[in-house]
Amino acid sequence: MILPGATLGLLGGGQLGRMFTVAARTMGYEVIVLDPDVSSPAASFATEHICASYDDGASLARLASECAAVTTEFENIPASSLLTIAEHIPVRPSATAISIAQDRIIEKQTLRNIGLDTVDYHVIQNESDLERVIENIPFPAILKTATLGYDGKGQVVISNSSDLKPAFQQLGAKPCVLEQRIDLACEISVVLARSVCGHIETFSVAENSHKNGILDISIVPARVKPEVSSKAEKMARILAEKLDYCGVLAVEFFVDKNNKIMINEMAPRPHNSGHYTLDACLTDQFQQQVRTLCGFRPGKSDLTAPVVMVNILGDAWQKGTPPWDELLKNPGVFLHLYGKKEPRPGRKMGHFCCVGKEIEALVDQAETLKKVISLEKN
Ligand code: ADP
Ligand code: MG
Repeated sequence: MILPGATLGLLGGGQLGRMFTVAARTMGYEVIVLDPDVSSPAASFATEHICASYDDGASLARLASECAAVTTEFENIPASSLLTIAEHIPVRPSATAISIAQDRIIEKQTLRNIGLDTVDYHVIQNESDLERVIENIPFPAILKTATLGYDGKGQVVISNSSDLKPAFQQLGAKPCVLEQRIDLACEISVVLARSVCGHIETFSVAENSHKNGILDISIVPARVKPEVSSKAEKMARILAEKLDYCGVLAVEFFVDKNNKIMINEMAPRPHNSGHYTLDACLTDQFQQQVRTLCGFRPGKSDLTAPVVMVNILGDAWQKGTPPWDELLKNPGVFLHLYGKKEPRPGRKMGHFCCVGKEIEALVDQAETLKKVISLEKN
């Protein structure tokens, strides 16, 4: 067990790292964050910010010598950096688990090997692969780069076979997966925490809607049949167990019109669709990350009340600073801002949660407040 007072290392200092840092410091740990961004959102809460790249040998050596354990807030940390640190101190989740999530080809293959459903897909390494599969693709489809995609970036929708080559070129002719585009009934996600000894706590299933490939709203509990929720939860548990996973794991699912559940992707870290846990669960996802990193059992994950989470993107600043008072005057609304200076369109600046009793009323309230903060001039 790593006890409060110890120093924890964090690779990546964005908003997920910031919320991890708050949780860790609240529990009495010190945090050293490594992030090349001088204005890293996590840095203002951290004990120390090492401003360097993720493969800087001297910085990795410092983390390895000054920290009791290291975790990460995003999956694109070079595997070699994680392995270097892991020679000295625990890295949770492991480099192996993180590297699976770094590459959609490996990720889908891993899921299939475990026996978990994914959408139908083809691996596209080069143009001749495109020619080989062209006969067998049900359109519409989506071409996704195998690595470095997020928030819908690195993806192109393909309506017919003549779109394929230009799309592959547009994505840089890099390895891709070509997926069937599902006619979705809804998207859901499960966030869980698993300890090094194998104890698992799953959070309530979230129902997620996306706009332009970016998460817009999460509704919890998800408005799906109980069988759908329990199947998703079971699939997420199986994945965590088969990977002998330690830490917080998020699993995104597609649900089609026949209630078939497929895993879309996994994230080896807390997840945007788990932000509701900060305001509506006994333990939140960042506390779980601290607990599992330090060798403890995850805390109880019970949902304390129905909740709707809304992302606040930089677009909300188009007419000036959003009128935060419109949110804060509601006693059941909780605002979280990530301390980012530049509100660029599509950039995640913060989120708010509407917590209450009745889910449909909360959805209405969330939609109304969303309009108020993005359209009103301050
Ligand atoms: P990212 O890594 O950017 O989150 P995802 O693969 O999760 O990439 O895609 C982002 C969103 O795009 C999904 O949440 C979903 O709304 C939509 N999408 C992606 N793939 C498919 C698909 N095969 N069928 C239908 N919608 C999809
Ligand atoms: Mg996704």
